Amino acid sequence: MWTCNKCGERHEDEFDSCWKCAQNEAPLPPDTAAEEQAFALYEDGSRLEGRGEFPSALGKYQEIVQRFPGTEAARDASKSIESLQKRVSQ
Ligand SMILES: [Zn+2]
Repeated sequence: MWTCNKCGERHEDEFDSCWKCAQNEAPLPPDTAAEEQAFALYEDGSRLEGRGEFPSALGKYQEIVQRFPGTEAARDASKSIESLQKRVSQ
């Protein structure tokens, strides 16, 4: 027997993951709400960037990467962070 260290549920050895936790985490299929929020933030970021407010734009992009990892917007945001950081350091 082993005990899940997240929820305390006890399992037979033949199971290698916790069904209870898996169930709790399951209702997060491709999270369209997160994608939408991330894209909304990304738009804010590019608007700020367009106005030359690079530090604020960077902040937005970093927020996306932190809050919505794995989304398309986060991937775009990390690219934007790289190019912005180059621009800011020049
Ligand atoms: Zn568990």
